[in-house]
Amino acid sequence: MSQIAQRPDAKGWCPGAYRPMMSGDGLVVRVRPTLARLTADQTFGLCDLAERHGSGVIDLTNRANLQIRGVRPENHEALLSDLQSLGLLPDDPDLEARRNVLVPPDWVDGDATSTITRELIQRLDELPLLPEKFGFAIDAGTAPMLANQSGDLRIERTVDGLIARADGLKRGLPVTVETAVDQLIEMAHWFIASGGFDAKRMARHLTSVKAPNDWQQAAPRQERARPVIGQHPNGAVYGVAFGQMIAQDLRALLNASGCKALRVTPWRLILTEDAAPVASNTFITDQNDPLLRIDACSGAKGCPAGEFDTRMLARELAGLTEGSLHVSGCAKGCARPRAADVTLVGRDGKIDLVQNGLPWDEPMARALAASELKDRIGDL
Ligand code: SF4
Repeated sequence: MSQIAQRPDAKGWCPGAYRPMMSGDGLVVRVRPTLARLTADQTFGLCDLAERHGSGVIDLTNRANLQIRGVRPENHEALLSDLQSLGLLPDDPDLEARRNVLVPPDWVDGDATSTITRELIQRLDELPLLPEKFGFAIDAGTAPMLANQSGDLRIERTVDGLIARADGLKRGLPVTVETAVDQLIEMAHWFIASGGFDAKRMARHLTSVKAPNDWQQAAPRQERARPVIGQHPNGAVYGVAFGQMIAQDLRALLNASGCKALRVTPWRLILTEDAAPVASNTFITDQNDPLLRIDACSGAKGCPAGEFDTRMLARELAGLTEGSLHVSGCAKGCARPRAADVTLVGRDGKIDLVQNGLPWDEPMARALAASELKDRIGDL
């Protein structure tokens, strides 16, 4: 297999609430819940807003944000005002765009993760203007859980304390709960002062610019496992197929579980806080469900570039491959910008098949009809 091209133009910014992205089904309005947690009342409110102002579809993103889809442009202002009333849009447009803060889902009030995150959010105005995708991972539990998730500056646990680590470096600078945010702000200013804005991301910047020596003193502990579906010390975990929920299904889950809050994760998993697992026909309740191994973008139903109904096809093909499957409406590969065992790519109304590669790699078979795919994938 050889690469035939670079990734086609992908959006270089994350849509925010104030600066939504227009998609095939209307505006996409992103909500960044503080500490990735919404109370039950906020969640019920969000479901109502998704139905009133949008299509009733809510995405779960790989930054543990929520996106209300299908918002009609004339409803955008009203939606912003309603989100503010729910306490889900606490800051002004400049600060909201900087509130890219990822946390593991098992923080508890008063621990290092929640304390540092709350202080960072209060001090967002001390950060320089950062590239749109620049973000923080406050990952200060017993060991890191977010090492493979997007984060340019991280707080992580070592064997005997905490470090602030720049993405791309193996080691970090020792900090305490009290000094962590000062250090993150200082590192963000270094990033901009050393020309990082054009590189956009810390790891990329550090391939051409040397980080200060004292940034590389202590290594983080070995990564711990992410949550699995079912009972969890903080409640119950459910899978969200393709990261997309229907408001009425989410409302039903909350009602059935009686949970007091919802936590969102970057892994298409949600956690109902302090509640036992309940049966669900719409959320994934089995860790072995093959839908968990499939990435599929919104495709023709939600994107003008989509060549076919990606998610309908993904459901038809679920379980045919033991490994990962990526169903991409076009070669941009929005749902999974990394290799999968099998990738299906829409092109000119037909589907190309890439094995062990990316959507923009050389396909092993071209211009397949959807009806041919089961046999082709089964033969791999
Ligand atoms: S990969 Fe999917 S969501 Fe991204 S541009 Fe193509 S069709 Fe649209």
